Amino acid sequence: MDSGIHLVGKAGTRERFSTFNPASGSPLTDYPVATEEDVFESVTQARQAQFWWSQIPVVRRSAVLRRLAQLLCAEKESLARVITSESGKPLQEALLNDVLVAADAAVFCAENVASVLRKEDIPHANPALRFKRGQLSWEPLGVIGIISPWNYPLSIPATDAFAALVTGNAVVLKPSELTPQTALELERIISAALDAEGLTNLPRPFQVVTGLGPTGQHLVASNIDKLIFTGSVATGRRVGVAAADRLLPVTLELGGKDAMVVLEDADLDIASSAAVWGSMMNAGQTCISVERCYVHRKIYSSFVTRCLEKISKLKIGDGSLPDTDLGPLISYGQLQIVSQQVEEARALGAIVHCGGTPLPHLGSNFYAPTLITDLENSMSIMNEETFGPVLPVMPFSSDDEAVSLANKSDFGLAASVWGATSHATSVARRIAAGAVLVNDLITGFAVSAAPHGGLKKSGIGRTHGRLGMQEMLRPCYLDVDLAPRMKKLWWYPYSRNFDPMAAFTELIHAPEWRTRLSAALRSLPAFFHPRR
Ligand code: NAD
Repeated sequence: MDSGIHLVGKAGTRERFSTFNPASGSPLTDYPVATEEDVFESVTQARQAQFWWSQIPVVRRSAVLRRLAQLLCAEKESLARVITSESGKPLQEALLNDVLVAADAAVFCAENVASVLRKEDIPHANPALRFKRGQLSWEPLGVIGIISPWNYPLSIPATDAFAALVTGNAVVLKPSELTPQTALELERIISAALDAEGLTNLPRPFQVVTGLGPTGQHLVASNIDKLIFTGSVATGRRVGVAAADRLLPVTLELGGKDAMVVLEDADLDIASSAAVWGSMMNAGQTCISVERCYVHRKIYSSFVTRCLEKISKLKIGDGSLPDTDLGPLISYGQLQIVSQQVEEARALGAIVHCGGTPLPHLGSNFYAPTLITDLENSMSIMNEETFGPVLPVMPFSSDDEAVSLANKSDFGLAASVWGATSHATSVARRIAAGAVLVNDLITGFAVSAAPHGGLKKSGIGRTHGRLGMQEMLRPCYLDVDLAPRMKKLWWYPYSRNFDPMAAFTELIHAPEWRTRLSAALRSLPAFFHPRR
């Protein structure tokens, strides 16, 4: 995507890049482009910090996370303003979907880390191994690299960073070049939380490196122990290939083409409000936005009428104004992608009922909220991520057809089904996606206990919830032999041990008790012969 970001700085000086307010187009601030050397240095510092950070008791790390939630709450309004200025989203969305989600995640991590880290005894079933004790523990991976997008500039890097930090890892974050200030505010608040908990004058376990794609590439190439990447499929694929080359574990949170299925027994008023909000919030630039809406033929035309009425009431404008419902797209490049998909569909016979046009009088990144019907599955608007304020609606005639349409996608991030609870739940269970919501949508991301992640092109692994914390840990199995002098018949010499071992296998697994008894008589003495 053309982000509109330009490098500034004269030859011989450190390169810098500028950010712009997507609503007004006015420049905001400029930031240094972290070089390979800068990124490697940040990873080295993070590793030094990880040493002390992983050694302190879990309760102290939890206290830092709780303090973080309090600081996020105290600064909620100023943070929301920074987020809106960089991303263009309405202030209420910045407050709820970024600040509140981040604060909830901090508390969830603090409350659940002890149970996630709890050691587990591993019993040994085989009698020959009964004198051993096994235990599974969870250890921090070390330094986690996070590469994040602009659309949730606080809640995405914060939820990943909190899960990494609370489990004893250090973090190096490369935020989107479109929203670096939000990441720097997060760094400042994490530092303040450490200070407030008496952890002053120690290397910081959370570092931010600003820059464009190449800075992200340096992070992938650096000495990190795992990468959590959130972004587009195209970049995710490049990152995955680079990570595979050095066998770096990755979690990939990529794009979506989420289906909304409205069954014939759905509440039309609620479902139409949900469709409008689910496709238009954050100007449709949410990985789990409604990107395809399938509606039962019996209620299709009244559903479309209601959606049109509700779209016509949306207030479009600068997200920093209190009554704005719908802000600009992040960039002119993103507007062109949306516009091309709508124009292609229109040229192939789709009907654009409202919108379908840029709104240049508001600013170069504004696009009118659009409802489009008479679509074909082959159109790119039904296959590729649109990431704009567009609601494509298609009719279906049976549950089977709805499920088949919903599953006919290269993506599998989330979906929603609307209808009478038991009917909708049974349809929801047939949809292949990382999360399927019944009579609700999108808010799964805000449930800090719920895992987030997808299938197919939507990515690999999970963030959020207990599974998100587990992604930051390596399982470590510890095995202690409490009878080391007991003879190990599976050691050398093989020449003398085959027969007793064959009898021992019969003792455990032969179906008849007579065979097992005779096997016991033949095998057990061998365990007590003197060691050679
Ligand atoms: P993007 O892929 O353009 O950029 C994401 C990040 O990758 C940025 O920080 C960017 O600087 C960095 N980057 C770019 N090239 C790189 C490279 N070669 N190596 C390493 N890093 C590189 O994505 P975007 O436009 O910022 O975000 C929008 C996309 O993110 C959408 O497709 C959306 O669906 C997806 N997304 C997914 C989720 C999810 O949880 N699945 C959440 C939010 C957004």
